[in-house]
Amino acid sequence: MSGGTWDSGNMDSPARGEHAAARGVSILGATGSIGQSTLDVLARHPERFRAVALTAHAKVDGLIALCRRHRPRLAVIADPAAEAALRQGLREAGLSTQAASGPAGLLAAAQAEDAHFVVAAIVGAAGLLPTLAAARAGKCLLLANKEAIVCAGALLMDAVRAGGATLLPLDSEHNAIHQCLAGSRAAGRQDVRRLILTASGGPFRERRDFAAITPEQACAHPNWRMGPKISVDSATLMNKGLEVIEASWLFQVERARIDVVVHPQSVIHSMVEFGDGSILAQLGTPDMRTPIAYALGLPERIDSGSARLDFLRLAALSFEAPDLQRFPCLGLAYRALESGPVASIVLNAANEVAVQSFLERRLAFDAIAPVIERTLERVHAAPPGSVEAVLEIDAAARQRARDAVARCEPA
Ligand code: NAD
Ligand code: MG
Repeated sequence: MSGGTWDSGNMDSPARGEHAAARGVSILGATGSIGQSTLDVLARHPERFRAVALTAHAKVDGLIALCRRHRPRLAVIADPAAEAALRQGLREAGLSTQAASGPAGLLAAAQAEDAHFVVAAIVGAAGLLPTLAAARAGKCLLLANKEAIVCAGALLMDAVRAGGATLLPLDSEHNAIHQCLAGSRAAGRQDVRRLILTASGGPFRERRDFAAITPEQACAHPNWRMGPKISVDSATLMNKGLEVIEASWLFQVERARIDVVVHPQSVIHSMVEFGDGSILAQLGTPDMRTPIAYALGLPERIDSGSARLDFLRLAALSFEAPDLQRFPCLGLAYRALESGPVASIVLNAANEVAVQSFLERRLAFDAIAPVIERTLERVHAAPPGSVEAVLEIDAAARQRARDAVARCEPA
């Protein structure tokens, strides 16, 4: 696929003449935190990689700035109303990058013939359809978009198999586990006793009073710089709950063999305990460029630009149990995983609505978990056999969650 078809729109790419062997990379969600970290890694290795398609939600200026720098063949804005502005901006910048928009544009980026790698870095269930399309198209799929696997794990794993795709996790915990397993799956492996996901504990690990927490406080993560939604998820520990569900699908391990340990320094990114008592861990400074470079370089190790870990400056590595009383979202995610695929879809959809409402100051931080719990109690459905069924359950859960938020809103 790396030698795939070239489009005539690529004439202005400096990579073309110099690095004809470079593999194409399509980045869904290029303007976000993961998207930018990926572009940083690509720019360190122009002889290996070239950006062929970049997508963004609605911010045209940010996307055009990335196009100037990385010269993709295709730029996609998810909001169809912004396509004309994108087209004009690309023209004014003197770029021959093609413009597209909407769901069809996102699918074109996910299935681009000249993309060997597709980086799924859209936030939320909005990334589900293009992520599935990349899997069906047999891409090397680098998955950051955990919500896609949480709400459609079985469909995504089936699509990976059917399309002959390669699925590599970018989420630092799952990437660490992938490294500890040396690339093999834990499926049916009696030698894997348990997966141990580490959690930083987020900004409120030691806080007691959650009622007055502001979006600014919730987004100020002690160890990682991330987009707003995952930052709030890290503050509620829902992020770890979504990651437990993600791990169960990726590594085919049941809930009983997945543990969460709070490790505030974020040095150990996760661990695998084997039957002989050995525990393998992956360590490093907290920088998403490390898991991204691992997935892009495999089986080789390539420079990521991340700072080196200085053991002599580490005061200590500490560990504690997660507090499910203060962080009920983690317990809700455990229960959702145990009760089946419908609950995972509802959990994710309700969480997206609640977090967005919190970010818009329409919902208190400590009302996020109650909104999710209420939605889980009210939405029931048969297990989904198709992506349409997943999206129907997702839509019903969003409506219920919006109702629950409205009931919590101050008069
Ligand atoms: P972000 O908010 O910084 O970026 C999100 C990207 O998705 C942007 O490019 C945005 O334009 C695009 N987008 C948003 N809504 C969209 C929509 N409706 N349609 C199309 N595009 C849309 O988020 P992020 O922090 O980069 O996280 C992206 C994903 O990666 C999330 O699923 C997150 O959980 C996961 N992840 C992030 C990190 C991290 O360090 N940031 C770590 C692990 C996993
Ligand atoms: Mg993570």
